[in-house]
Amino acid sequence: MQTLAYVDDTVLHQGQPVRLTGQSGNGGMALGQGVLADRSAALSAVPDRQVSDVRSECDRLRQAIRQAVQELQAHQTADLSSIEQALSEAMILMLQDDALQAQVLARIRQGQWAPAALRDTIEAQAQAFYQMPDQYLRERATDVRELGQRILKHLQPEAICPAAYPEQTILIGADLSALQLAEVPGERLTGIISASGTATSHVAILARAMGVPAVMGIASIAGLQGRTLIIDGYQGSVSVEPTAAMRAEYQQAVTQAQVGYTTLETVRDQPAQTADGVPVALHLNIDLDNAQQGAQHTAAMGVGLYRTEWPFMVRDRFPSEEEQLSCYQQVLAAFAPRPVTMRTLDIGGDKPLPYFPLQEQNPFLGWRGVRILLQHPDIFKTQIRAMLRADIGHGNLRILLPMVTQVSEVTELKQRLHQICAELCAVGHAVTCPPVGVMIEVPAAMYQIDRMAQQVDFFSIGTNDLAQYLLAVDRNNPQVAGLYDELHPAILHALHQIVTSIRSQHKSVSICGAVAGDPLATPLLIGLGVDSLSMSAGSLLPVKYVLCHTCRADAQDLLQQALAQSDAAQVRRLMQHTLQPYGLAERDRSTFQP
Ligand code: PEP
Ligand code: MG
Repeated sequence: MQTLAYVDDTVLHQGQPVRLTGQSGNGGMALGQGVLADRSAALSAVPDRQVSDVRSECDRLRQAIRQAVQELQAHQTADLSSIEQALSEAMILMLQDDALQAQVLARIRQGQWAPAALRDTIEAQAQAFYQMPDQYLRERATDVRELGQRILKHLQPEAICPAAYPEQTILIGADLSALQLAEVPGERLTGIISASGTATSHVAILARAMGVPAVMGIASIAGLQGRTLIIDGYQGSVSVEPTAAMRAEYQQAVTQAQVGYTTLETVRDQPAQTADGVPVALHLNIDLDNAQQGAQHTAAMGVGLYRTEWPFMVRDRFPSEEEQLSCYQQVLAAFAPRPVTMRTLDIGGDKPLPYFPLQEQNPFLGWRGVRILLQHPDIFKTQIRAMLRADIGHGNLRILLPMVTQVSEVTELKQRLHQICAELCAVGHAVTCPPVGVMIEVPAAMYQIDRMAQQVDFFSIGTNDLAQYLLAVDRNNPQVAGLYDELHPAILHALHQIVTSIRSQHKSVSICGAVAGDPLATPLLIGLGVDSLSMSAGSLLPVKYVLCHTCRADAQDLLQQALAQSDAAQVRRLMQHTLQPYGLAERDRSTFQP
């Protein structure tokens, strides 16, 4: 068996067991069948099929090649960089190469249908490149495959799509969207594999919300269609066509997790407090339409972060006030009287809306969160009206502003909020102005807490973005994922400073980034003195278990030790050593099996 970071499709097609390594997106393990979300591009998944009408099949191929050329030409706009222009031109030349067309036509004339004739021709050419000693030429195999997939797109892709999602679907994509995840019937989605992104990418956040294991950064996805896969979301690996031994290992891990879960259940209904009685509220992050389910989790004391992007992402236009109203009413009603913190729309970065295209070189440094809302008062107004109206009769709404870098942004949005509130009251809606908070997720915000505190009621620290901006590591880029760690001592120092500043302003502080759901970090966050932690449902019991078994003085002492370490690996070792008696597994940062 081979263990590889990248594997050529050919190896996958030989049906041999292979273990691919990526990164953990969400813990958990699953066995299922791979389904490519964009199946029209899965050239390798095309089945054999005989044709009798060879002439029309040849025409179909010529037509598909013409369409692929036209498609590329249509994209050759002035907006393309010179590299993209050159690549696009090279692709057109390859498509117009008579030799390629002649080889596919020859296979069709032998009776094969066009998609499979294309598959074999492309595979033969890719192999020829792949065997070359020169690294540059070897990498051209990828270009040839991309070319083949482009042509395939125009060859009746629906004819090669499997009719439905299998019982145990492991959804695979280059850059999966919320919509693609939503397409799989809930009970069938058992795992997610993404070619791009890391543990804090939006797709990983959605995986956590859905409670399915996810592996990120698996480069070779094209050959995974229809394969039997075991995904290990703890270690970030994918076993293709697992052997009997690998299946047995998987079964053992599943059994072990079940045993661990029983132990975790013991804290479910205990008060959320340290062993010496210091309360820390445990809240839920809601990212999808799973509020009803989340509200039934008895350990969830409220919603610390409701990412409102979901109702915007599942439509092909902005949702109306009434559509948002009904969505928010459901969440507020499901949790009342527990508090629900709704974040205003935070699109941009890795959360674009298909109907609101943003063309930016650096999306994470660009038009995001409140920056968009300030320039589009209509979007803000519709959303706030819907939130305020939804809160009538419940009174548990709190509003959170994301991606704030200037005090003036808070001032402006609060003014608008009050005005919207007054307008609604004037026409007879019994709305009240809810508490307003700011996310501290940009380094600039860290240094303005005293002035922001004069305007807001609470703070919530978005460690996913804060870490990305402090460490200068794109949270989506698997290439630099090894540099991204929320337990980096620099992040801990920043958190310490933020919490101290907020405390001195007598405001409450919560953490709602992924670190809040990492039980390894729990003692450190208790040591910081936060009021609440907000996380996905799957993390509530592991975090609560550590909380209930930790004393505040010990947590403060551990925090001091962690602050003195020189890198994240040392902090992790310290925490793993500390939590070992509780049964925190060594093999992964997010595995917790007491
Ligand atoms: C964060 O940045 O930590 C956060 C909670 O927001 P998001 O992950 O949605 O950007
Ligand atoms: Mg954020």
